Amino acid sequence: SQTPPSMGSDAASTGPLHMLFFPLMSPGHMIPMVDMARLFATRGVRSTIVTTPLNAANLRRTFDSSAGRGLPLSLHVIPFPDPAATGLATGKENNLSAVPTAHFNTFVMALFHFQPPFAALLRDLRPNALVSDCLFPWTADLALELGIPHLIFHGAGAFPLFVLTNLVNYLPLDPSTDSFIMNGLPHPIRLYRNGLPELVDNFFMLKLLREAEAKSYGVVVNTFYDMEPSYVDYLKNKNLQGIKAWSVGPVSLCCRAAEGRAERGDPPADRDRVLSWLDSKLAVSVVYVCFGSLCHFSGPQLKEIALGLEASGKAFVWVVRREAAEDAAAEAEWMPEGFEKRVEGRGLVVRGWAPQVEVLGHAAVGWFVTHCGWNSLQESVCAGVPMITWPLFHEQFINETLVVDVMGVGVRMWEGFRRNRLQEKKVLVRAEEVAAVVGRVVGGGGEEVEAVARKAREYGEAAGKAMEEGGATYEDVTALIQELQAKRKEE
Ligand code: UDP
Repeated sequence: SQTPPSMGSDAASTGPLHMLFFPLMSPGHMIPMVDMARLFATRGVRSTIVTTPLNAANLRRTFDSSAGRGLPLSLHVIPFPDPAATGLATGKENNLSAVPTAHFNTFVMALFHFQPPFAALLRDLRPNALVSDCLFPWTADLALELGIPHLIFHGAGAFPLFVLTNLVNYLPLDPSTDSFIMNGLPHPIRLYRNGLPELVDNFFMLKLLREAEAKSYGVVVNTFYDMEPSYVDYLKNKNLQGIKAWSVGPVSLCCRAAEGRAERGDPPADRDRVLSWLDSKLAVSVVYVCFGSLCHFSGPQLKEIALGLEASGKAFVWVVRREAAEDAAAEAEWMPEGFEKRVEGRGLVVRGWAPQVEVLGHAAVGWFVTHCGWNSLQESVCAGVPMITWPLFHEQFINETLVVDVMGVGVRMWEGFRRNRLQEKKVLVRAEEVAAVVGRVVGGGGEEVEAVARKAREYGEAAGKAMEEGGATYEDVTALIQELQAKRKEE
């Protein structure tokens, strides 16, 4: 078993620092937190991840190879709460946040069922710090009660956290105002009322989050200083109810070794096929198209994407989520007839899960069509790959603003605003639009587009430097470890 020996409070005051990581069981939250645990482990911190049985089975691959490198990483399993009592889907332990917006409150309440086993574990282990997903706000009370510093992990970056915290001062009272500008900030930021995260309307959750924040020791953010300096400064200096902030990213760079990169998230479908296919392509000639772990495109939208990629004339790797791809009958509805035959050699459809970090790091990949999930965005930046943005929901429209308007490392798939979140309003992005943008930017696109690609490469270099000794992230991680060490001695 990977379960660490139980530690009482005496053991907690000697030996290496012990940090407990409690991620939400969903790829967009779990992958970065596991990376973060690995990052702290490389710095000598004893890092324990708490998760449920099915996720633990998945993570063992990571742990087994990491154990081979001698990292002080371990895994602790808590039971998955009874689906009959919680409404959480049986057997879907690893994508909990894939819930319809309308059911979000029920989902958050269901997460409270993790409390009894987690509380027992925390009392038993008494780590020197707890890093907990923001969607487990009740962990802040538990940590407070036990005198354990509680660090929140939001999953989002400094810019979206900044925008969301300040939104209340800028949101026009008139509900018919579609778009508005947040002025007087380091950059003027245009936001669309309909593009705001669902959370903004969820006062119940906002209240829980705010209360948890107020009781926390600080936040850890998966970002690096040079990517969003004004916003990291803001978080560090005065935001989030005065609690502290550390930027510890890009956490995906904790996996320098190829094997580490392949182990993230689900087992990738056709890893070798995808990578050797890319090997046969010219440098920066391929566009990688993937919309994260939660996206559910309608059949007609999938069809438009397929036809658009075909008409672009460019080489592509397109990841279609498992739900859409698994059902052969449903596939017949969206997959254009003869599509894969026609694009053979030029386009590759991946059904299920791609080894994204490896794909983005491949020399053949020149652009990334992304939904602007925070992890995808970070991974693209790390690889120095420019983005074509197609936000869907949550804080992705805000992230798009960062990518295109603030950092200048992306171009929009469409101008202005379209609502396309979870297909609640079926605004189709047409094949001609996809073909036009992909056709224009991939492999060229004139000076403006080249400047975007150049900037992306520069940010990629900066990301690597942030993680090296002396880099901003490296130093922030050191500072956090030292602070937690000092705190432990005080007690
Ligand atoms: N991912 C992957 N292969 C896929 C789809 C996603 O490895 O086929 C990973 C991706 O690298 C990222 C995470 O899943 O680390 C998705 O997180 P993100 O924040 O981008 O989006 P979300 O899934 O939360 O919408």
